[in-house]
Amino acid sequence: EKLGVALVGLGYYSTDLLAPALQLTEHCELRGIVTGSPEKIPVWQAKYGIKDHNVYNYENMHKVADNDEIDVIYIVLPNALHKKYSVIAANAGKHVWCEKPMAVNAQECREIIEACKKNNVQLTIGYRMQHEPVTQKIISWAKQKPYGNIKTLYAEAGFYHGANDPTHWKINKELGGGAMFDMGVYPLNGVRYATGLEPLSVSAVIENSRPDVIATDETTLFNLEFPDGITAECKTTFAANINTLQVNADNGGYKLQPFQSYRGVAGITSDGKKLEAFKGNQQARQMDDDALAIINGKPPLVAGEEGLKDIKVVDAIFESARQGGKRITI
Ligand code: NAD
Repeated sequence: EKLGVALVGLGYYSTDLLAPALQLTEHCELRGIVTGSPEKIPVWQAKYGIKDHNVYNYENMHKVADNDEIDVIYIVLPNALHKKYSVIAANAGKHVWCEKPMAVNAQECREIIEACKKNNVQLTIGYRMQHEPVTQKIISWAKQKPYGNIKTLYAEAGFYHGANDPTHWKINKELGGGAMFDMGVYPLNGVRYATGLEPLSVSAVIENSRPDVIATDETTLFNLEFPDGITAECKTTFAANINTLQVNADNGGYKLQPFQSYRGVAGITSDGKKLEAFKGNQQARQMDDDALAIINGKPPLVAGEEGLKDIKVVDAIFESARQGGKRITI
């Protein structure tokens, strides 16, 4: 018996990645939609056979509480709306899958965690990389230390954002846009999972070469200090296509490039071993992992607390940048 998933927000990620992946999943399937765009309803119903009684809008979404066909609500909305709709989903008694970044500040993350606890539903954050096999090998190396103790890391993720529509939420502040929220959580999460450690402090600067069209951070540079003197230099940007996670240890190291592409993660170690990309569908793997956790009553791989840990650092990154790059203790 598969779990029924309802996607909330039928934009790019739901349309191009999640809905197709939900045709490949073994433990869950696409059964419902929540949308504010009536013209999308017949298109989605025809394509995915979604029943009339499984179609909701943002005003009546809470009524999903009475719908036994929907087990999971997947929040795929602009970042500043994650909290509101995650809480509505939890209060309807549904398990919550929430896209990254979890929310736009740590307080909002805590409110989502509380709502899910109170309603006794699972909460997972859409960090698909943590479900991906090459990434999982890197995560296991944090403990195994095949190249000795980790000393320094370099992580960067970004793409050239054309800013063709200056009103789009991803390049405006109000709905949680900006490179840091969009791409910056990948290097941040990456250096955390590659070390298995939590950063102690951060210093950050924000640069913007196109303030006329990008009304958020275009490029954010942040340096993290971890326990044992380990340091990480990180970058995220809307001004260039970059995607690397490099780990330097006492006796060598390893580099993933790209480290968060949908098409797979590939890398090489300092002694020439290739890390071959996983060819499967990352989103299907993530959603099947998360569905199985619900079915088996086990904790999910990427719980809400993991999203909160990143956003606490993001809060500190923005605070540091406001204070001209001052070192902020986390
Ligand atoms: P998008 O802009 O393409 O889609 C957002 C959807 O939200 C649109 O359908 C829009 O109509 C709807 N929406 C509802 N209320 C809105 C409002 N008030 N203002 C604007 N839009 C509103 O964005 P996307 O790229 O699909 O991103 C959605 C979420 O998914 C984000 O949190 C993003 O970070 C995440 N995402 C994750 C990945 C991943 O690999 N895990 C990839 C892409 C996006």
